[in-house]
Amino acid sequence: MDVRSVPGGFVYACADGASGTTSKVLLSSGIIDNLPQLHGIEQLYGISVHHCLYCDGFEYAAKPVVAYAKGEKVIGLAIMMRHWIADVVACSDGSEVSRCGAEKLRQRGIPLRQEPISALVGANGRLAEIHFEWGPPLVRDALFFATGSHQSSDLSERLGCLRDENGGVVTNPETEEATIPGVYVAGDVSRDVLMISMAIAEGAKAAVAINKALLRRDGFAD
Ligand SMILES: Cc1cc2nc3c(=O)[nH]c(=O)nc-3n(C[C@H](O)[C@H](O)[C@H](O)COP(=O)(O)OP(=O)(O)OC[C@H]3O[C@@H](n4cnc5c(N)ncnc54)[C@H](O)[C@@H]3O)c2cc1C
Repeated sequence: MDVRSVPGGFVYACADGASGTTSKVLLSSGIIDNLPQLHGIEQLYGISVHHCLYCDGFEYAAKPVVAYAKGEKVIGLAIMMRHWIADVVACSDGSEVSRCGAEKLRQRGIPLRQEPISALVGANGRLAEIHFEWGPPLVRDALFFATGSHQSSDLSERLGCLRDENGGVVTNPETEEATIPGVYVAGDVSRDVLMISMAIAEGAKAAVAINKALLRRDGFAD
């Protein structure tokens, strides 16, 4: 899809051939997780391999889990996971963790495995073991990863919307309007709190703001 800013609004052209003009644009194209490059992950992702502790952490409160990230990032993730889950092992998959970071984990009773991971092994979506290039396998029920995400669509960039340091589209929190007048945002595109409830709430706020802007355009005050 292509959308371009023109005086008084926007012109759009969709992949299916539909085209036209509009005075407002609502961006809600979401984001895509950067899946860790781990053998066997595809069959497990979304069932026992997760990216969001807020969404899935509670279910594993009494189960053995892994915090997965490269380098120092694994420290913060593993410590955060300990708020919900007693049995956490941090895995840095062949990347180095500082002595200070390793000490923070040790103080909290979180083991650290730094060996490269060779495979995630499980069945029917359920993780069973993590295999390493050397050393014994690790029996685990789930793996949580922190390897980032990226915008699904570059439309906001092409429209010239300002993005923050995390790649989220900067919006006015009152109206969900982006820095380009007439462009509104709902959901993960802003990379604020990445949850369904937030996406719904932002969609509702943006819809009301768009409606009010159209009323103002038609000569009716708020
Ligand atoms: C595996 C997984 C589990 C999750 N679990 C939970 C949970 O338990 N609880 C919770 O609150 N949240 C959960 N989330 C997060 C939640 O799904 C998102 O926060 C929410 O869906 C964001 O809504 P959205 O509308 O912004 O984006 P999305 O739901 O991602 O929708 C964006 C849509 O835009 C489409 N799109 C993208 N680019 C284009 C384009 N160029 N043209 C046309 N269409 C396009 C996409 O195909 C998609 O359909 C989970 C996410 C994942 C990936």
